[in-house]
Amino acid sequence: MKLVLATRNAHKAREFATLLAPHEVIALPDDVELPPETGETFLENARDKALTAARATGLHAIADDSGIQSAALDGRPGVRSARFAGEHATDEQNLAKLLRDAPAGSGLAYVCALVHADPATGAIVHAVEGRCTGTLAATPRGDGGFGYDPAFLPDDLPGERTMAELEPHEKDAISHRGRAARELRALIDG
Ligand code: IMP
Repeated sequence: MKLVLATRNAHKAREFATLLAPHEVIALPDDVELPPETGETFLENARDKALTAARATGLHAIADDSGIQSAALDGRPGVRSARFAGEHATDEQNLAKLLRDAPAGSGLAYVCALVHADPATGAIVHAVEGRCTGTLAATPRGDGGFGYDPAFLPDDLPGERTMAELEPHEKDAISHRGRAARELRALIDG
């Protein structure tokens, strides 16, 4: 099935192209404007983006909204992960703030809400959520992945490698996005 991906994040697009194969993931056309992320949950934001993309393109659309929750910060930054250090903050600034605000070794969880919208009905067909737990590294390490990956030590892998030190297939096997994508693919494939 052709699936238009409602994101402008090139890292996410690359991950989803692999995770949703053999379905064909199509980039969101440049003229489609995504809604602002005003929801209080990952699911609300993902729904808005998927419905907007399905209506604008007439194609089946998928959207994710994802982020990181810190146990030491009562679940923040959560849905505000991309803007943790300010409205137009870079990944590096957001990561530096997490390392300043939360102690090394404290608990983390990545969350990904993933939604499929049907253009014919203008409704959500499937909605799933994937999680990946870990702890905060003392110092960032690794060049892979994106966002908070250099400071995220996943519980699922023994050893001290951060998410940014994993091969892409290793991240996909345990990540919040990998888990959500496999669940969604199973639902789409029936
Ligand atoms: P949004 O889903 O576009 O609102 O942005 C999610 C934000 O959460 C990203 O900008 C990253 O800061 C963070 N994030 C989501 N998924 C990941 C991941 O797989 N690795 C690292 N950071 C992530």
